[in-house]
Amino acid sequence: MEYVKTKIRDVIDFPQKGVIFRDLTTAFKDPKAIHILGWNLSQIYRDKGVTKVVGIESRGFICGSILAFELGAGFVPARKPGKLPSEVISTSYDKEYGKDTIEIHSDAITPDDVVVIHDDVLATGGTMAAVYELVRRFNPRKIYINAIVELSDLGGRAKLPAEAETTALITY
Ligand code: 5GP
Repeated sequence: MEYVKTKIRDVIDFPQKGVIFRDLTTAFKDPKAIHILGWNLSQIYRDKGVTKVVGIESRGFICGSILAFELGAGFVPARKPGKLPSEVISTSYDKEYGKDTIEIHSDAITPDDVVVIHDDVLATGGTMAAVYELVRRFNPRKIYINAIVELSDLGGRAKLPAEAETTALITY
């Protein structure tokens, strides 16, 4: 993981002043880094009977798809409002400024599923907690949570239930 960390770019004052944005696109474009990411993610969930990976728009789609492929699981996108074409379930959650909404197709998950929710970065945890709440409504057998990067100062993990056994590959 040390190699991957060297490939993550710190962008100062993005998207606003005072924020250090951890830019993973520079890791995703590096063949060795994305290989290490795919391998390490799949190792965490290899023997857990995972049947669906839920990737959060949009950066969660990248390694979420790789993880689904590696596990022989299906991939489900969690998307911003109005993007999914069929019937959805949705939830709204508080962001730093105002509210946001996230949606999943209402036939995307069944009670037989074992689900991993994946995103690139766990920051304040608002997004992940909202998607967890959505996935919970499908009453699947188990829900795991994963992010590539956890920004531990922002305390996101505290918003997530312990039973989701949240994992992160890199912590700042
Ligand atoms: P949260 O809801 O946990 O505050 O924010 C998480 C969401 O914002 C994730 O979807 C993530 O992609 C994005 N995000 C927040 N901070 C960063 C960051 O430093 N780097 C990247 N790549 N995404 C971030």
